Amino acid sequence: MKEKPAIGIDLGTTNSCVALAQGNRPEVIPNRSGSRITPSFFAVGASGEVLIGHPAKRQGITNPRNTIHGVKRLVGRKFSSPEVQDEIKNLPYQLLAGPNDETRIQIGNEIYSPEEISAFILKEMRKIASEFLGAEVREAVVTVPAFFTDAQRQGTRNAGRIAGLDILRIINEPTAAALAYSMGRRQEETIAVYDWGGGTFDISTLVIGPGVVEVLSTYGDSHLGGEDIDNTLVQFLLGEFQDIHQADISGDPLARQRLKEAAEKAKVELSERMESKILLPFLATGAKGPQHLEINLHRNDLEEMSVHLVRRTIDICAESLALASLKAEEIDHVILVGGQSRMPMVRRELEKFFGKPPVRGVNPDEVVALGAAIQAQVLQTGGEGILLLDLVPRSLGIATYGGHFSSLIKRGTRIPTSTDHTFTTPNDNQTAVEINLLQGESAKAAENELLGKFILSGIEPAPRGVPRVEVKVAVDADGIVRVEARDQASGRSRSLTVTSAHGLTEEDIARMAKTSDRLGLADKKG
Ligand code: ADP
Ligand code: MG
Repeated sequence: MKEKPAIGIDLGTTNSCVALAQGNRPEVIPNRSGSRITPSFFAVGASGEVLIGHPAKRQGITNPRNTIHGVKRLVGRKFSSPEVQDEIKNLPYQLLAGPNDETRIQIGNEIYSPEEISAFILKEMRKIASEFLGAEVREAVVTVPAFFTDAQRQGTRNAGRIAGLDILRIINEPTAAALAYSMGRRQEETIAVYDWGGGTFDISTLVIGPGVVEVLSTYGDSHLGGEDIDNTLVQFLLGEFQDIHQADISGDPLARQRLKEAAEKAKVELSERMESKILLPFLATGAKGPQHLEINLHRNDLEEMSVHLVRRTIDICAESLALASLKAEEIDHVILVGGQSRMPMVRRELEKFFGKPPVRGVNPDEVVALGAAIQAQVLQTGGEGILLLDLVPRSLGIATYGGHFSSLIKRGTRIPTSTDHTFTTPNDNQTAVEINLLQGESAKAAENELLGKFILSGIEPAPRGVPRVEVKVAVDADGIVRVEARDQASGRSRSLTVTSAHGLTEEDIARMAKTSDRLGLADKKG
């Protein structure tokens, strides 16, 4: 019997990549235009047509309000969260608050959730694979940053379902990269995977050996990426424009979009060369006619502007080592992942910190998708091959009386895992308790992230301290959390899988799966 194809998808903030493992060698599947990565762009064109990938990115300049990018930074985040509020300042498209303070995107008269937009990208990746194989692909392993919260993982799962994908497993990007890197290596090695993409930064330390990839620690910032460097450069260019023309064009979306593109292009060029010329004719029109911007940028200028961001990644590396009780010199190899890791200053700072240069010969754009494909193959052939041992990236627990955080599963615990703990009531005759599931490291509940909450009622009246409420918290292999509370005396219990804390309901997902079909991306039958 022919095995069903299962693919690996690196669903990136900026670019996505799809790979397939058949036989012993995983390979990246190029898209129709021959490109091995596809921009994570979605757009609605002038006549209402849906565009995804390169065609969407190309028309972004002339259609900024209807061209959506960087949506991964919005998935699983509340509209009023500082991250989203910070994001809004730099986005040419429209965000608004949904029913429960969820983040929504407006394109024309249509409102989309970030998950829906992610689903369009996933669908495109699936289509690339299906066309390549000449057969419909349904099963996939999809990667997420190791430091993604539960809500963000759930958001990604929901996006997969909207795209009609059966997500076999969600794995962490650095783990996937380590898996791909470990193929064909015989010795046990301690490695660090440094992944700096467009929107997120992740660092993991791992031990790899024949047949096993074990994560020792993982740390990161899901809001620190190449886009932050682009935005810093845009701010600089706006300032230069102001100096030259005495005009503030920061409120002009078209000008901003052109500046952003020029900034990114210059940044990428400065990884190869020492100088780059930014030339933007007719950027705006003033009283005296058209206003242009022409600037020669030196690599040193860019480094000066972005050194604080690079240093932040190094600080996070130090934290990640501390979590694993490792010294920098105990790392045998540093693997670079993500386009932003191509910046020469990154290599330099890493060499300073680890005392050795990062490994060459790993393609930072492709290694994550390759690892996901390997894992997809492993899962499909019944779990034989490689053992992946991953971790809970942040501690999980519940809020207790007085606003304290009671941590039930410590960060660094291997997944899947579960734990039971018995609590009681702080007041006499209390018949209900509220269970607040939180993620974070602070001893104060309010400083950690709320994943979800529910009320367990029907507790039999008793003096305080007498009722016994058993709380069970479990994390599955996808890193998704479930909590259950049970009153021992009454036997009443309630549970919560953290699905809709910020996100979509089952009905939403079903409806969106239909709509995204209606928009002309339906699967081919047969
Ligand atoms: P993601 O995983 O977030 O989708 P990628 O790994 O594709 O992101 O990285 C995208 C980021 O890398 C962008 O910010 C892009 O500008 C940056 N980038 C790509 N190539 C280079 C380069 N040669 N030098 C510096 N930055 C680069
Ligand atoms: Mg990436």
